Amino acid sequence: TPSSPTLLHAWRRTVAARRDRPAVLSFDRTLTFGTIDAQSDALAVAFQRSGVLPGDRIAVHLQNDPQWLVTLLAAWKCGATAACINPMLRREELRHHLADAQPTVLVSLDSLYADVVAPLRAELGVRTVITTAPWDLFGDAAPPTVFAETWGPRRIFADTVDWLQLQADHAGAVPDPVDVDPADVALLTYTSGTTGRAKGAMNTHGGMAHNVQVYASWHSIDPDDADQPDVVLGVAPLFHITGTVAGLGLTILTGAPIVLLHRFDAAATLEAIERHRVTFTVAASTAYNALASHPDVLTRDLTSLRKAVSGGAPLGPALVARVAERAGWRLLAVYGLTETTSPATMVPPGVDPPIDPASGALSVGVPVPGADVRIADIETGEVLGAGAVGEICVAGPMVVPGYWNAPEETAHAVRDGWLFSGDVGVLHEDGWLFVVDRKKDLINAGGYKIWPREVEDVLLQHPAVREAAVVGVPDEYRGETVHAYVSLRDGTTAEPAEIIAFCREHLAAYKYPRLVSVVGDLPKNASGKILRRELRTTELPRGGTA
Ligand code: ATP
Repeated sequence: TPSSPTLLHAWRRTVAARRDRPAVLSFDRTLTFGTIDAQSDALAVAFQRSGVLPGDRIAVHLQNDPQWLVTLLAAWKCGATAACINPMLRREELRHHLADAQPTVLVSLDSLYADVVAPLRAELGVRTVITTAPWDLFGDAAPPTVFAETWGPRRIFADTVDWLQLQADHAGAVPDPVDVDPADVALLTYTSGTTGRAKGAMNTHGGMAHNVQVYASWHSIDPDDADQPDVVLGVAPLFHITGTVAGLGLTILTGAPIVLLHRFDAAATLEAIERHRVTFTVAASTAYNALASHPDVLTRDLTSLRKAVSGGAPLGPALVARVAERAGWRLLAVYGLTETTSPATMVPPGVDPPIDPASGALSVGVPVPGADVRIADIETGEVLGAGAVGEICVAGPMVVPGYWNAPEETAHAVRDGWLFSGDVGVLHEDGWLFVVDRKKDLINAGGYKIWPREVEDVLLQHPAVREAAVVGVPDEYRGETVHAYVSLRDGTTAEPAEIIAFCREHLAAYKYPRLVSVVGDLPKNASGKILRRELRTTELPRGGTA
């Protein structure tokens, strides 16, 4: 794949070469590059007519629908920035995101608009709202079967522009040409807020083109491969940086079609992997856990998925083994943040990552091309040598210049071009990186320091445990004590006392959990990341003591 300064340049080249080839596969429908390009031209014309100028924000408030790709391209064709809005946000959170991004135009799914946007409309000052039903690109008059039960008929509002009407009005029109520069902000991607108020990371066109190229070359993505043409599965949410870079970005750059399924559902995802012969995906380890735990994993033909990359959350040896056994996939770890425009380190294909002898953790790979990784002292920021535990710092073209409207947070996170990730890790001499945990999640039990991840990895080795999360909770005697929350595999049982005894066998006396709660499901964000913060603040049932 030739390199491109921006994904918009790449798109023009890809469309010219593949106009009638599939770009998006959604359930049983196929949308070509030509269709996506024509729809994004019409949408860009509508944006320009409503006064969108280069540098303006277009808020994208959709599920993993084909409209995401159309809207992203239309924004870029106007030189605008796409502000990625999580469709799961409730009204208060949405108010914060939109007040921060100050979009000129908002593109929203019809039901989402009615539920959460319309009540805020008067105070937000968004000039134009465009509403669409998830299946609008399919060309069906009535909702297709997959949506008929869950979504209801498409809705028209008096104060929004209807997507289909807009497409009819501007069919064949071409937007005024605007140039985008690698330094321009392509996306405002809101960090998921697992550790605080959501901030809009400014992912640049150059940073995105760089990291999409990293995924494409690292995994040899080629839609014209004679043996097995690449097909990308867009599992990660598209409002998340991994969804745009490892999903839509790869389609734009390489021409490999992307499978989009509106929202994550294990059965539908397994069905789509078989149906479309999916070869590549990047998903959170929790998504792989859900897929491997679904009964259909044993009956579907999943052999095409040769490049299964896991990022965004810790990946332990127990899950790697389980996914290999049940799904036949060999998971490769990637480590990155919104602020590194997705990958910073990745495990090379065909290589078994080393295991850290001290913690038993698997390496998250070596720095990707262009990325510099180093470890800094947690307190002083001083650079540490190989083997030392400290804060992971990343520099390179993928690191964002900062956060939107947040100079203080920017100055704290990015210093001299180095992103201070907030993650604690170890870099081995040969370049392999190990993530220990998040700096903020350290538990201090009477002076003993415990990283929750180490306890979680032990819990996940218990045969009945499906998911685990460990947090520090206030304790009169120790200041803080270790509290584990676990969910169990279907058809298994385990008492808190038994789980505590299991941990006691594998962990030093100060580390094993004193409290264990068995819960139905652990709280997760839209990318499937377990939210330890919510466990600290919500009152969930507490279990056994020791
Ligand atoms: P917030 O920044 O608001 O807390 P978030 O951390 O969920 O939200 P993301 O940028 O989506 O925002 O996630 C990046 C984080 O995910 C990293 O800082 C790291 O803690 C974690 N992470 C990513 N990849 C891995 C991995 N391979 N192993 C362990 N943790 C990972």
